[in-house]
Amino acid sequence: MPKLIIDKQEVEFKPGQTIIEAAKDHGIEIPHFCWHPELSVSGNCRVCLVEVEKMPKLMIACSTLAAEGMVVHTQSEKTLAARNAVMEFILINHPLDCPICDEAGECKLQDYAYQHGEGESRFTEEKNHKLKHVELGPRVMFDGERCISCSRCIRFCDEIAKDPELTFVQRGDRVTITTFPGEQLDNPYSMNTIDICPVGALTSKDFRFAARVWDMSSTKSICPGCSRGCNIDIWVRNNEILRLTPRYNKDVNSYWMCDDGRLNTLKHVNADDRIDSPYLKTETGTFKVAWDEAFAEASSRIKSFNKNEIAFIGSAYATCEDNFMLAKFARSVIGTGNLDFVRHTNPEFKDELLKTADVTPNTLGAELAGVKPSNNGLDFNGIKKSIKEGKIKALYLIDDDLVSNDPEMENVLSKLDLFIVHAANHNKTTALADILFPSSTFAEKNGTFVNIDGMIQRIRPAVSTVDADRAIDGMAMSRLDKFGTKFDRWAKGKKADARANWKILISIAGALGHKMKFNMAEEVFTEMSNSIDTFKGLNYDDIGESGMKLKVPVTEPNVKV
Ligand code: SF4
Ligand code: SF4
Repeated sequence: MPKLIIDKQEVEFKPGQTIIEAAKDHGIEIPHFCWHPELSVSGNCRVCLVEVEKMPKLMIACSTLAAEGMVVHTQSEKTLAARNAVMEFILINHPLDCPICDEAGECKLQDYAYQHGEGESRFTEEKNHKLKHVELGPRVMFDGERCISCSRCIRFCDEIAKDPELTFVQRGDRVTITTFPGEQLDNPYSMNTIDICPVGALTSKDFRFAARVWDMSSTKSICPGCSRGCNIDIWVRNNEILRLTPRYNKDVNSYWMCDDGRLNTLKHVNADDRIDSPYLKTETGTFKVAWDEAFAEASSRIKSFNKNEIAFIGSAYATCEDNFMLAKFARSVIGTGNLDFVRHTNPEFKDELLKTADVTPNTLGAELAGVKPSNNGLDFNGIKKSIKEGKIKALYLIDDDLVSNDPEMENVLSKLDLFIVHAANHNKTTALADILFPSSTFAEKNGTFVNIDGMIQRIRPAVSTVDADRAIDGMAMSRLDKFGTKFDRWAKGKKADARANWKILISIAGALGHKMKFNMAEEVFTEMSNSIDTFKGLNYDDIGESGMKLKVPVTEPNVKV
């Protein structure tokens, strides 16, 4: 590979790479605003100017190709003087309103002003005033005074969302961005412009003024909104999720996520309709009960049925660990192969960038974890038919709303003698449950999802539950670190009294006389990897932060991002 020298360090580069790309690959950060690795080069902010030996003038690192033997200085006197001058120029009209700006704490302009700014302004004239609080679309607000005209948002809409909605108007120091006449910034990926805006010019209507970034914790997780499995950070303050942002994964979602995933998937975690305790339905009504009472009631009522009269429905919304434990419970504890789950697809949701027709995060994972009929057991349609015929009398369901998906199920489920449900939020299906257990959402537990391309990825708890606090009390902090459980147990916010599905299942198995020794999701995963070939040899550490590709046939071609 050819080599160049950056700041006295010899580094290799791939032919065709620019100086900024070659430097980035070797951990050398050259300041930039307008350059973004996934967008075309516009070269308009000029803050990436570097000194290149034998070139008469400073060069912009974002568009100058690296060449064999080239010698680059990113910290020379000339480079720093030019960088400081560019910063001074950019800051002339900037309002410097960091104390009330959402971007403060994660703002490139703020960072570079600290690193390269002069610390005081020579500009004593009136600053140029521009439009503020402009609603560019249903989800994004624009502050014209903070904009540094880098054009990242314009290029994102043109090149990634393929929906040109933004443009520059005016010239010189009056230049600003706006939408084309009659257009709004409302493409399905519009909120990515907020992430890539290097300053606080674009803000989220949903998150504006909700919290300072340094007051929140962030946890690496996966969006459960569809089977793409976009990598995300969950941002939490006081045990409440305030925003989701995309996390880079070159094999899954690059730098992006869709607006649906960003806004909708967190709503049910913070919702008022969370199930706050186990519930039992009796002849006189439905009552809250303690967990142990619900486990005892579930086990004693399950015992009253013949194994062929019981069926189990897993969930493409639940983790591999949850589904594996349900399959184990059905086959090993109850002895039935009446086991399946429901696929949820919406072809209208699918697009050419990330969104898939499968609107669940773990269809492939549920299948691989063993949620399918066995030993002449019934699939979902067979279970439905047998309930109607009175042959299946007890149904055990985790994390799915069968009635909202298929209104006919209301009548079908009402024929059951026993209906046990795990769910996070009340819905039309939970209203029919005889025994209802509150289950943890994706943001409250450890586990794995397998995406549409066969990539297994980890979710982690970002908010605490009552049960998690109890578990922490019995655990050494070193173990917490190892397993990445870093939510704030002292958080003051409301906590759901919910448990992971696998955990509820082993408690009922225990009450039925089948003791299982699993204390953590990772131990369930180890058992799964020991018993299912596709997961063989895998552990949470291997899966890490970016996931691992399983050897499985994929159902849809990977969309290039
Ligand atoms: S709004 Fe932000 S991303 Fe768009 S041009 Fe201005 S500074 Fe750049
Ligand atoms: S494409 Fe799917 S996984 Fe990605 S953010 Fe949107 S809903 Fe979530």
